[in-house]
Amino acid sequence: MYTFPKPMNARVVASLLLLPSPILIAQTQTASPAKMPSKTLSPEAIHRSAIVIDTHADTPQRFLDENFDLADPLNGGNLNLDSIHKGNLGAEFFSIWVEPKLYKGQYARRTLELIDSVKQQVARHPDQIQFVTTPGGIEEAHSNHKFAALMGIEGGHSIENSIRLLRQYYALGVRYMTLTWSNSTDWADSSGDIDDTSIPHSKEGLTEFGKDVVYEMNRLGMMVDISHVSDRTFYRTLVISRAPVIASHSGARALDNAPRNMTDDMLRAVARSGGPNSKGGVVQVNFFSGFVSQAYWDAMKAQQPEIDKAIADAKDKAKAERREFKYADEEKIQRSFMDRIPRPPLSMLIDHIDHIAKVAGVDHVGLGSDFDGVSGQLPEGLDSPADLPKITAALIARGYTAEDCRKILGGNLLRVFREVEQVAKELQAQDRPRITDKQPFDKAAK
Ligand SMILES: [Zn+2]
Repeated sequence: MYTFPKPMNARVVASLLLLPSPILIAQTQTASPAKMPSKTLSPEAIHRSAIVIDTHADTPQRFLDENFDLADPLNGGNLNLDSIHKGNLGAEFFSIWVEPKLYKGQYARRTLELIDSVKQQVARHPDQIQFVTTPGGIEEAHSNHKFAALMGIEGGHSIENSIRLLRQYYALGVRYMTLTWSNSTDWADSSGDIDDTSIPHSKEGLTEFGKDVVYEMNRLGMMVDISHVSDRTFYRTLVISRAPVIASHSGARALDNAPRNMTDDMLRAVARSGGPNSKGGVVQVNFFSGFVSQAYWDAMKAQQPEIDKAIADAKDKAKAERREFKYADEEKIQRSFMDRIPRPPLSMLIDHIDHIAKVAGVDHVGLGSDFDGVSGQLPEGLDSPADLPKITAALIARGYTAEDCRKILGGNLLRVFREVEQVAKELQAQDRPRITDKQPFDKAAK
């Protein structure tokens, strides 16, 4: 039997000594669904017994640009209703991602259209999909035998430097925001361009406005997502955030040295994130071959100049022909190059989950596939949610218990989401500090 390092920190001990809050009671109830010994359950049955939550799929691009419907066959994509049912995917956070160059000057418009595209899918399939915005909603949809659709914004540029837009996105149902995508904003830095000296970066990783964005996300109950941010922005955010943070789709840098992945120190920091009574955040492992395998990442980087040139040529051609150059066009080009690189084995993805469970604890790891956002570049045998049971089977084979698997498959994310809601309630009971005031929510570095 495999045993995990489960650091029992002072906070956890303290919370055990105190009377459990209603939140904790609810958590305990949901965290132990079937009190059956795992030996009697097959990996498939364990997978079926979990509320499986994936925190990142870029399918809204397909809804909007390709008129893709979730009832359609996959047709080159990764996610549809059939595969969702086959793989017992209980909830998906659909990524609201605005390509920053193609949609320059129209970030809010594109954000709203993507949000609408998710809601249109829900409206078309009310018998199968339930739009939800809370952890309780995920559980309710699950008990209704429906797939829960949620939304997260990928890239702080969507708010166009406006706290008011942030609040309205929350009102529309957005429940996490990745502070940056691969592009830095005026208030937070990205790992994607941090080495580009032509782009202005903040001194501390977050500007005063950036800190205020994090505070407002805490106050609203929107999960703070640190996937994509620069290392400095990551640490600054963890000092500022009063709620535990998530990485919606990131892997372990110790296994694949891509800047999008996280060092062991960062993994441990996420596990410790949140206020003094927090149970800590969660790192949702990205399935993208480039973040799973170092060999794949190196091969991809070697191709990059060629890919960039092919995309630039295609853009010029579209312009000359007065055609709109869509993200799908760019993706097709990327895919044609990346398909030439061999796929890593599924075991390498499991290595990331295993590594994070060992370094940060089994309570701090989950799944953030990046389905429909990685040009089909996924480990062998992992092409859609229908293949998710293979992950559970692989974890069981490595000695993970049924309870561990349920945590990884969705329980950890539910716990963090609940805590984010609780922190929001507490902050809403207080006066909101003015943006221009010295930030009263600044905490000393841990
Ligand atoms: Zn991403």
